[in-house]
Formats: sequence, structure tokens, C-alpha cells
Amino acid sequence: MDLFAFVQKLSHLLDWIYKKKCYFCHSSKDCVKMCQKCYDSLEFLNYDEFIFLDGVPVYCAGLYEKNLQKLIRGVKYHNQWDLAYYQAKFMWEYWQNVASPDDKYTVIPVPLHKNRLKKRKYNHMELVGKEFCKLSGYEYSDNLIKRIKYTKPQYLLNMKERALNLADAFEVNDDIKIEGKLLLIDDITTTGTTFSEMIKTLKRAGYNDITCLATTTPRI
Ligand SMILES: [Zn+2]
Repeated sequence: MDLFAFVQKLSHLLDWIYKKKCYFCHSSKDCVKMCQKCYDSLEFLNYDEFIFLDGVPVYCAGLYEKNLQKLIRGVKYHNQWDLAYYQAKFMWEYWQNVASPDDKYTVIPVPLHKNRLKKRKYNHMELVGKEFCKLSGYEYSDNLIKRIKYTKPQYLLNMKERALNLADAFEVNDDIKIEGKLLLIDDITTTGTTFSEMIKTLKRAGYNDITCLATTTPRI
């Protein structure tokens, strides 16, 4: 066997082992990326609105801690694309307790600036949004609103700085027209600054039927 074939075989083997193990507890019992036991350990927050921003309800499905934190960080920073499905599933299970079954939404993930996208290679919330739409049957759109300002990570800033940092950060694409309800989704919301700025921009463009859903919020 030549070296290339050997490396290929080895990488297939590693793939195989890697995929069979739960990313959280490392058990290979269920042969999936997140075993049932670890998924069941995720806890839902209550189904009331977390906050209102400019009259828009914002919901949070869980707390940013334990396995939910590991799940989000895996999808966001560690190239664990397969885990986007579980993040979406968690959000969808939560969302079914909030929305009426007849309501249809267009799901809009918080966009990344093109420079950050280049650095990260992918927008984790796009992965989650697509999975969420597969589960819900909702429409999906990642080109209605884009990020035109390259901003500092919000967690480094206080509340006032956060608002300033994100001021005029978004722009609506006038070539796109979406009818009906919009559901903006993000992974973590604290004070809702990102949602708030998106809402402002979308309202200016005539979109008024907006709801927000974050996977998590940090425990205060
Ligand atoms: Zn597990």
C-alpha cells in the first residue's frame, strides 16, 4: 500500500470512529454525533417572551450552559457541522410550544459580515436555519438582510458599547421581497442588541411582522 492510500484508509477509519461517537459523552452506543441521553439533558426555558424589542417578541429556548453551550460552541467554532441539526431540533421543539401550528414563517439567520465569514469559513446560523426549515417546513432566506459593518464581538462590550458597535450594521436587500411573518434566529442573546438592530433595519424597509428566537441566553 502506498502512503497516500494508507493516509486515505487511516482518515476513513478516523472518520468512522469519530462519527460513531457522541461529541458530548464520547459514548458510541447510539452511533450518532449527539446521543439520546445527551440530547435529553438539554433543558428548555419557559415559553413566555424573554423580552420585547420595539414591540417585537424575543424568545429564548434554553440557557447558555452545560451541553447546550458545548453544542453551540461546537457548531460555531469547532467545525461540528453535523451538530447544527441538534441545535435546530432543540429550537424547533421549543418553538412548537410557542407558535401556532398554522403559522408559517420565513426563517432569517443573523448574517455574518463577509470578512468574518471569510475567517470562519461558514455562518453557523445558516446551517442551523436550514436544518430548522427542514424540520418545520418554513421558508428560508439568507439574503434579505446583510451585515455591512464589520463589528467587534459583542461579548467584549458593555450594553452601551454594544448598541454603538452595531448601529447601522445591517442593510436590507431591496431586490428581495418577502411576504408574511419573519423569524429571526440567533444562537445567543443577552440584551438583544443584535436582534434590535436587525428589527430597526427591517422595519425601516417595511417589514413589521417579526419575531425573534435565540437558542440560548446566558444565566444572569
Ligand atoms: Zn452522549
